[in-house]
Amino acid sequence: MKLGQYVRLMKAMSKAHRKFTCTSCGTKTEVLGDFCMCSNCESIAHYDSVAISRKDPTLSNSLKLIGDALAAGNYEGVIAEYEKLYQYKRDPLLLYAEALAYIRYSNRTYAGISYDRPGFMEDNAAMAENAMKLASTAKALLAKSIKASRDDMAEGNSSPDSLYGLMLAQLKLGDLRGAKDSLDAMEKLNIPLVYNYAAMMLDAQKSDYRKVMAHADTILRSKNILVNAFFYAGLALFGLGSRNDAMKLFKSMSAVSESSAVPLLVSEIAERV
Ligand SMILES: [Zn+2]
Repeated sequence: MKLGQYVRLMKAMSKAHRKFTCTSCGTKTEVLGDFCMCSNCESIAHYDSVAISRKDPTLSNSLKLIGDALAAGNYEGVIAEYEKLYQYKRDPLLLYAEALAYIRYSNRTYAGISYDRPGFMEDNAAMAENAMKLASTAKALLAKSIKASRDDMAEGNSSPDSLYGLMLAQLKLGDLRGAKDSLDAMEKLNIPLVYNYAAMMLDAQKSDYRKVMAHADTILRSKNILVNAFFYAGLALFGLGSRNDAMKLFKSMSAVSESSAVPLLVSEIAERV
């Protein structure tokens, strides 16, 4: 697709004014169809905040606290809330989303290290050690999430969300072989949109930008447009050398979406290429 087509589609989508809340991280994402992928953690979101608070007020309350803490960059608060929430609801995707918070916390701690300030070497060493600890906790949580998903599936949970959640954790952990196995299993479930999105994530991790763009275009041509596909289209443009077009796409994305997760996702994409 050409840049102009992406921008036109994006504008049409923003007029839908409908958002679903992610039950893993509390982020609200624009939706045009029955479900969407969260623009913060990429979990599948199926409900709006009203439906969630009616179905499960405890979860709804906790998600609000997590979402607010995330938006404020208060990672200690985010982590404390996840620990409580997981006791209440043993969902492997909560472990995955908590791991993401640890990864971002670790990245922010690394970013705070400065070697050009005299007399700060000890502070720097402490920060580097702390950042490493946070990153290793993230890995442990991802491994725990994978195990919990596998246990769920062994007990007969065959929902696409479970398999998709397993693949998210495998991708974050860099287990591409495991992710490919999950993707193959997902293909058999015959939900083309989820399959295409998952395949797009795997191809992005493999830096196969032509395939990323093909998947993004397929998703954007469907009725149930997944807003994150615009990000992947931008990533593919970036990776294929059309950096100006990619930046234009990201800019119109930020203008259209109110989500605080947009700048986060853009910076993550920029780091990857
Ligand atoms: Zn989320």
